[in-house]
Amino acid sequence: MNPEALVKRWQDVQERIRLAALKAGRLEDSVRLVAVSKRHPVEAIATLYEHGQYLFGENYVQEAQKKMELLPSDIQWHFLGHLQTNKVKQVVGIFDLIHGVDSLKLARSLQGRAEELDCTQNVLVQVNLGSETQKNGVLEEDLPQLAEYLAASSRLCWQGLMLMPPFLGDVDKVRPFFVRLRELAHKLSQEFGMSLKELSMGMTDDFEAAIEEGATIVRVGTRIFGKRE
Ligand SMILES: *Cc1c(COP(=O)(O)O)cnc(C)c1O
Repeated sequence: MNPEALVKRWQDVQERIRLAALKAGRLEDSVRLVAVSKRHPVEAIATLYEHGQYLFGENYVQEAQKKMELLPSDIQWHFLGHLQTNKVKQVVGIFDLIHGVDSLKLARSLQGRAEELDCTQNVLVQVNLGSETQKNGVLEEDLPQLAEYLAASSRLCWQGLMLMPPFLGDVDKVRPFFVRLRELAHKLSQEFGMSLKELSMGMTDDFEAAIEEGATIVRVGTRIFGKRE
């Protein structure tokens, strides 16, 4: 790892976020950057932390636990990707936000664990916007049931939606998915009388387009840390 190059890439991403927000007529601080550090070393996270990045995303529970032990406790961690119900114990109350709630079963399990710990857990619902190639995320037809459960949940604080678009290799083909996620969040907010203001969408190849379409959280890994092992 070359620390100077790492910091430079991170600064470049921040600048691009700023410009994309500006272009969209949005405030710069309406977009949060999750630095996706999965399969990258603790040293790289520590370097960015020293420069002021306090929010990181991880996909694997064990790997994240090891990193948390070694790093400052004021780092915020987001859990990304698919969460298995047997890992719920290691995630609730530890991650500030769980991005990938995609089933009623998982939601119930998270609620149960939060009750045990007497805590509240922030969550996003990952939506599968009808693509065949994409496996994770709740299908739109199953969303109402999950939404109803989360809206009524005493322990889960439902803050918005998350999207992993299909790999289309072209930002302009992905953009309509960002628009649909935003519209869906708006519709659900009205339906359930709540503020689903967080839109977690946009990664290395498309975060600027996602910001133009309303992303409040972008998850960027490769462009900051380089290729994963
Ligand atoms: C790995 C991962 C990312 C980061 O992807 P990059 O293409 O490296 O920016 C973002 N979101 C999720 C859910 C991921 O699993």
